[in-house]
Amino acid sequence: MRKNIVAGNWKMNKTLGEGVDLIEELNEQLNGTQVKCEVIIAPPFYLLPTATQLTEGGVIKVSAQNCADKESGAYTGEVSAAMLKSAGVSHVIIGHSERRAYYGETDETVKTKVELALKEGLTPIVCIGEKLEERESGKAFDVVKGQIENGLFGLSAEDFGKVVLAYEPVWAIGTGKTATKEQAEEIHKFVRDTVAAKYGTQVAEDLTILYGGSCKPSNAKELFSMPNVDGGLIGGASLKSEDFMGIIKAFE
Ligand code: PEP
Repeated sequence: MRKNIVAGNWKMNKTLGEGVDLIEELNEQLNGTQVKCEVIIAPPFYLLPTATQLTEGGVIKVSAQNCADKESGAYTGEVSAAMLKSAGVSHVIIGHSERRAYYGETDETVKTKVELALKEGLTPIVCIGEKLEERESGKAFDVVKGQIENGLFGLSAEDFGKVVLAYEPVWAIGTGKTATKEQAEEIHKFVRDTVAAKYGTQVAEDLTILYGGSCKPSNAKELFSMPNVDGGLIGGASLKSEDFMGIIKAFE
């Protein structure tokens, strides 16, 4: 069954006290209520054990923003999928465009990280999306197709069924420029059709595809109303509880 998800990517924001405050504010508003979507937060690595402890037994699930492309060993500064699992994390964002742009991540590293995450029973939230020049030169469809094929189509249908996709047009991330609901739907439908051609209709129908890129309380409802948009991966608007709650409430 396809899930609706609202996931907050905190990026490199929040000191310990600030992060704890935000989690406590969200817990207060979410726990004990009927929430119509899965709610995930992705704080920086150092906050993950605190976040999993504070959210235990509640509504919020905890994701990492990245994991290593190696299992263990002499890789200074890296954090493995197994370490995330041991901290109680359930999800991991993989291949975010900022990782691709600033840290040299490729479809190849995405593929390796997804395999390592799945091996630990973590749910990968895999980001795909085209840059502005790629959209303007009519290559958006080819770019996302290539990212899916190279990063994910080596998986068995069973493993692919454990993945969440996030379509995040790079030109819409942190820019205030949101894709229109029609632009988002067009790519999401194309992604679902591409997955159906490889793994069959059922796997494609069950796949959750999130939209990401300047999503906020004022535009979430119309984006999420599209048939192939199953929620959002939220950056800036996940840093304040009232904004994040406003997006979660788009599902009511
Ligand atoms: C993101 O980085 O995943 C994102 C969607 O950021 P923003 O919402 O700030 O555009």
